[in-house]
Amino acid sequence: MSDMITYSIKPANPNAHLFKITLVIDTPVEGQLLRMPAWTPGSYMIREFAKNVVQLTAADANGDIAVSKVDKSTWQLGSCKGRVEVTYSVYAWDQSVRTAHLDQTHAYFNGTSVFLEVVGQADTPCTVDIQNADIDAAKNWRVVTTLKEKGAVRYGFGTYQAENYDDLIDHPVEIADFTLRTFEVCGVPHELVLTGKHYADMDRICKDLVPICEQHIRFFGEPAPMDRYVFLTWVVGNGYGGLEHRSSTSLICKRDDLPGKNSGAEITADYQNFLGLCSHEYFHTWNVKRIKPAAFIPYDLTQEVHTPLLWAFEGITSYYDDLGLYRAGLISQEQYLFFLGKLFTRVLRGAGRFMQSAAESSFDTWSKFYKQDENAQNAIVSYYAKGAIGILAIDLKLRQLTDHQVNFDQVMQQLWKNYLAETKNGNSPKGVSDQQIQEMVIALVDDTHKDIMADLLDQVLFGTEDYNYSELFDFVGISLEKRVRSGWADLGGKPASNGSDPIIPWLGANFTAVSAGAKIATVAINKAASKAGLSAGDIVVAVDGIKASKDNIEKLFAPFQPGDKVQVHAFRQDLLMCFELTVEKAPQDTCYFKIHDEAKLDRWLKNA
Ligand code: ZN
Repeated sequence: MSDMITYSIKPANPNAHLFKITLVIDTPVEGQLLRMPAWTPGSYMIREFAKNVVQLTAADANGDIAVSKVDKSTWQLGSCKGRVEVTYSVYAWDQSVRTAHLDQTHAYFNGTSVFLEVVGQADTPCTVDIQNADIDAAKNWRVVTTLKEKGAVRYGFGTYQAENYDDLIDHPVEIADFTLRTFEVCGVPHELVLTGKHYADMDRICKDLVPICEQHIRFFGEPAPMDRYVFLTWVVGNGYGGLEHRSSTSLICKRDDLPGKNSGAEITADYQNFLGLCSHEYFHTWNVKRIKPAAFIPYDLTQEVHTPLLWAFEGITSYYDDLGLYRAGLISQEQYLFFLGKLFTRVLRGAGRFMQSAAESSFDTWSKFYKQDENAQNAIVSYYAKGAIGILAIDLKLRQLTDHQVNFDQVMQQLWKNYLAETKNGNSPKGVSDQQIQEMVIALVDDTHKDIMADLLDQVLFGTEDYNYSELFDFVGISLEKRVRSGWADLGGKPASNGSDPIIPWLGANFTAVSAGAKIATVAINKAASKAGLSAGDIVVAVDGIKASKDNIEKLFAPFQPGDKVQVHAFRQDLLMCFELTVEKAPQDTCYFKIHDEAKLDRWLKNA
């Protein structure tokens, strides 16, 4: 019999949020090392999963063996004979898609949070015995994961298998009394799984997911690279996010984002957010789960792995997620342009875009994008949003220079063909090099246009100035319009709801509610609040002598004209301070699109 690594996992103590894991190694080496990952693929932050490991012990046939710690994530087994069994617990109490969570309502984990890697045996096949909790609340629990069954029946407890450690950690597992619907796309079985209290119309969601998935599969070409796909969805009161995997995704969403049985046929902005998230994670099945930066092959999970390419893996994915909803026929051109207007608003409102390029933001994600503080808007740009509008510029420029003969879809399709060719005989792909996408784009235009294209790539990927899109938008019959916000909560995307250019005093600050007053969350550099000396963390308690709260602070500033001086009282820690704030008019940083030429717009969006 060939060597195996055997894990078993049990939600042993839901009240204490503890999983119990047993790891059996058939053939440990002398001084065998065991290691927890420091991060999980797709989420670029050092999380030190070893910190949640408690009570690790090991034994061979003769009894307990010594275990010592080598560094914060690595254990070393003492002298042993033959087969070794390692037992440990993992504390799981993080409401996110990236780690693990266990209580009386469900058990959820990513392999990176719970499974020790047997160092030197990462290529050895493994099995996982998934067991149920021994509590009454768990009697209707089932298992859903895209790990392959090995003895377990689908949705049942029992034994699952993985080809190697990399495979083992790429199939999150949900154990709960979940609701489930199945549907088929291009011959591939798909499942929608919802955990948590919800009132969702699951048939409706499946009906809307079909054209999205179909669209992405056909974009890259049939057959799809996975033989099954699961949308694992955790429905909560407040939350939003997703993490991509090779044949599933873990999503977290708000209960209110999902349509209920009484909802109309219209796709609301909230539901569009959810479908956009599904579309985004599904697109990752190709772009980042298979087509990867060369730096990620293989993943080094012990430390930060820097790449300047997240503008490609997240920016391109963001570009195609909502475009995918349009191409799938779920949203109209107007709804798509509404989304695009909000995206431009988001980018143009942050002064951080002048400090960092999309490529720099990618490289520094570990310490900046994933560790955003109150100064983030002034210091960094999102490689998702800046990447997506950069890809839009590249796509439109390719179309403009070739009269729509060439577009960015061809770059993605070529990257996929390269991947298929490289992996044909079971080989590892080479991965995308730092310059490869730019070279592929430039190769698509004729010699007279190569300099123009190179210059555009340089500006949108490596530059910090605003790119001038007007010529490109004119080519597709639209214009980007800018206006002042119509209220503090205005996220853009549409013309002003209260007439053109209203006077809205804008502080350049965002607030959160606290028991007495309005706490400043962020302050934009060189805007009214910043000039007055107000800082993030200050609690504003009065504006012009009137008691302030998060709910009324916008109204308290509404009577003032630009140039008026207003007294603002705020606590900084326990000191009451008085600030003189000069009111400023909101800047023209709210974007929306106007359609000038339907035929040109159709040429872009419909020929796509
Ligand atoms: Zn993503």
